[in-house]
Amino acid sequence: MKVAVVGGGISGLATAFYLKRKGVEVELFEKEKRLGGKMRTVREKGYIVETGPNGFLDGKPYTLNLVRELGIEGELYKSSDKSRKRFIYSKGRLVRLPEDPFSFLLSPLLSPKGKVRLLGELFVKPKKDNSDESLASFVKRRLGEEALDKLLDPMVAGIFAGDPERMSLKAAFPTIYELEKKYGGLIKGLFAKVKENKGKGSSSGPSGPGGNLTSFKEGVSQLIGALERELKGSVNLGVSPKVEKLNGKWLVNGKEFDAVVVATPAYAASELLKGVNGRLSELLSQIEYSPIAVVGFGFEKEGLGHDLDGFGFLVPKKEGRKILGALWDSSVFPNRAPEGKALIRVMVGGARQPELVNLPPRELVKLALSELIDIMGIKRAPSEIWLFVHEKGIPHYTLGHLERVQEVFRLGQELGNLFFCNNAYLGVGLNDCTKAALETAEKVILMN
Ligand SMILES: Cc1cc2nc3c(=O)[nH]c(=O)nc-3n(C[C@H](O)[C@H](O)[C@H](O)COP(=O)(O)OP(=O)(O)OC[C@H]3O[C@@H](n4cnc5c(N)ncnc54)[C@H](O)[C@@H]3O)c2cc1C
Repeated sequence: MKVAVVGGGISGLATAFYLKRKGVEVELFEKEKRLGGKMRTVREKGYIVETGPNGFLDGKPYTLNLVRELGIEGELYKSSDKSRKRFIYSKGRLVRLPEDPFSFLLSPLLSPKGKVRLLGELFVKPKKDNSDESLASFVKRRLGEEALDKLLDPMVAGIFAGDPERMSLKAAFPTIYELEKKYGGLIKGLFAKVKENKGKGSSSGPSGPGGNLTSFKEGVSQLIGALERELKGSVNLGVSPKVEKLNGKWLVNGKEFDAVVVATPAYAASELLKGVNGRLSELLSQIEYSPIAVVGFGFEKEGLGHDLDGFGFLVPKKEGRKILGALWDSSVFPNRAPEGKALIRVMVGGARQPELVNLPPRELVKLALSELIDIMGIKRAPSEIWLFVHEKGIPHYTLGHLERVQEVFRLGQELGNLFFCNNAYLGVGLNDCTKAALETAEKVILMN
């Protein structure tokens, strides 16, 4: 069997790797001159700066398993204990986010009224029908408006750069959706889970139930490099291929294949498949994206005006600021900055303020810096600056997302041996991509 994989981000690379490991002949086509897609590490002047993701959570096995299969466990780099301390910007100051759901009750983040409402979740009846519900509607219904503004909104900005009013709960947070369905509520569900985990003798990592943030000593590009080595001889760079179906066979860049895995973002998949199936192309074009800019600053630590003791902070929309948040990278992974220096990355834009990403670079950097100065009390000018703009950064799982995705997958099956694997569909994080890659490779093999 011969399989074409189009798109060389982590989703496409991992799919190709899993296929090759099973003896399948694979050829990968990547539009750019380098592999990795959103995953790229820049190493400059002793700094290790990520243009996008800075790691994955080890609470799920998918990326870790891939790392093990590639034999690069020795390169893993666990986040420092400081990353337990996460902050929310609230009423002009940074307030520590409590580590577990129950300590929210003691936190100054919510008002007494907000806390009572949070506890009232125990008495909220579960939603009866299975219709899609927005994240905002779900949180308002179960936990109250304050929890939405102070907790969910910044979290959604941090993970999805998304708008909770438009995002689908089922698609973005399937486990939370399931908690209500299975246990009747979130607090009930969390108690039940703690009990179940105790029975199994397991506990969550120090950074919470998701696990520890984990990366690689030299940055996330190390994972891409390892995959690239494994796929040597099977990769075409700088090729945006034509995908056609002729007489029951797939033609990619003029060559015949038995199956095609489209691992590009949805908007690129829509273009690729325009001539193959109009409905499929239309559905793919309906998957929206939020733009995001990452502004990196290198500072001298001395006299900085902040101890950077933590992971970083997120900003709720209601605070009316111009950034989504900032990551204190060199506190999380100390080797990200040279001795005596600090690396901070600021996130700008998202579905909240997409227009900011289009500002001229100088203005964008100025805006990010002035927000840092104001929010953190930074007292030094940065010695290094990096700007990475992702015009279509993170897929926005809006209402109806899962139905769209199901139809996309179904049409792929109807056309025969056309598969989709990318963070556009069933999860936006690295673990979601590596899980989808393994499952896609298994599906390809099973159906051939
Ligand atoms: C700023 C930012 C921060 C993030 N932080 C985290 C984080 O800390 N942790 C986490 O888990 N996730 C994070 N993510 C999400 C994570 O980066 C993505 O889930 C993941 O990198 C997506 O990989 P992918 O392969 O699905 O897509 P992509 O990385 O987008 O890869 C798609 C590939 O397809 C190629 N392509 C496009 N069109 C064509 C074509 N016509 N022909 C051939 N090739 C084509 C592209 O060039 C690209 O290489 C972050 C994302 C962003 C933007």
